[in-house]
Amino acid sequence: MGLEEKLPSGVLLGQVEQLVGLIRKASVWPATFGLACCAIEMMAVGGPKYDIARFGMERFSASPRQADLMIVAGRVSQKMAPVLRQVYDQMPNPKWVIAMGVCASSGGMFNNYAVVQGVDHVVPVDVYLPGCPPRPEMLLDAILKLHEQIKDTKLGPHRAEAEAEAEAAALAATPTSEMRGLLR
Ligand code: SF4
Repeated sequence: MGLEEKLPSGVLLGQVEQLVGLIRKASVWPATFGLACCAIEMMAVGGPKYDIARFGMERFSASPRQADLMIVAGRVSQKMAPVLRQVYDQMPNPKWVIAMGVCASSGGMFNNYAVVQGVDHVVPVDVYLPGCPPRPEMLLDAILKLHEQIKDTKLGPHRAEAEAEAEAAALAATPTSEMRGLLR
């Protein structure tokens, strides 16, 4: 990100961030990555009824080099995991991931050795979408929520500050093993 490193800090950077955020959120291109039944619902958003083109996502890219959003639609088998990671690595930065459906998010009902128990074991996930399968409206809602995240993305020195804050908050958080809830 050579250009980002050259950005000045201060008020001007805030305005550049707003502009870049608006441009980026309106021009996200998804990679084609349907793995199971959820992919049928994902394909439906490309049709005339749901019309994903309204959000600047004119077409699903068959090439990772021309895509910056991976929608993982379906359960991820152990055999597919390295392929998924390779496609993710070939996508240019900045890039985002939506885990579509309960299988991609957590393994779902496939609690066995053949299926990855959540795609976040393989790639970082920005939005988890519940449901089996989630309806096309739910996928559009997840995409709009991702647009909000993209719009507020920090750049340059602001990004470094945000990362330091997030790391400090993560280190200060209560470990999951020490959390007490209704089930304990
Ligand atoms: S969440 Fe349901 S619809 Fe989606 S891949 Fe899993 S079983 Fe299929």
